[in-house]
Amino acid sequence: MALRVAVVGSGPAGSSAAETLAKAGIETYLFERKLDNAKPCGGAIPLCMVSEFDLPPEIIDRRVRKMKMISPSNVEVNIGQTLNDDE
Ligand SMILES: Cc1cc2nc3c(=O)[nH]c(=O)nc-3n(C[C@H](O)[C@H](O)[C@H](O)COP(=O)(O)OP(=O)(O)OC[C@H]3O[C@@H](n4cnc5c(N)ncnc54)[C@H](O)[C@@H]3O)c2cc1C
Repeated sequence: MALRVAVVGSGPAGSSAAETLAKAGIETYLFERKLDNAKPCGGAIPLCMVSEFDLPPEIIDRRVRKMKMISPSNVEVNIGQTLNDDE
C-alpha cells in the first residue's frame, strides 16, 4: 500500500521531515498555517551545524563567541561566558 504523509508545520523540523519523506518517494503534503512567516530570528546557528547539515562554508558571515540578548522588557542575558578560548 502506498504511503501518504501529512506534515503539519513548515518550520525547520517539518520542512526537514517533509524533504526526507519526499526524497524517499513518499507522497508528502506539507501544511503551514502562517504563510507570511514573519517569525523573528537571530540568523545564528551553532558552528557544529555547518558540517552536520552539510552547509557550504562560504555561507558563514562571521563567527561569534559572545553575545548579549536583550528582551523587549530590557532583561539582558550574556551568552558565551563559559566558553573556553578555543570554542
Ligand atoms: C525570536 C527568536 C529568534 C531565534 N533565533 C534563532 C537563531 O538565531 N538561530 C537558531 O538556530 N534558532 C533561532 N531560534 C529558534 C528557532 O526559530 C527554533 O528552534 C526553530 O524554529 C524550531 O523549529 P521547529 O520546526 O521545531 O518549529 P517552528 O519553527 O516553530 O515551526 C513550527 C511551524 O508549525 C506551524 N504550525 C503550528 N501549528 C500548526 C497547525 N495546526 N497547522 C499548520 N501549521 C502549524 C507554525 O506556524 C510554524 O511555522 C529563534 C527563535 C525565536 C523565537
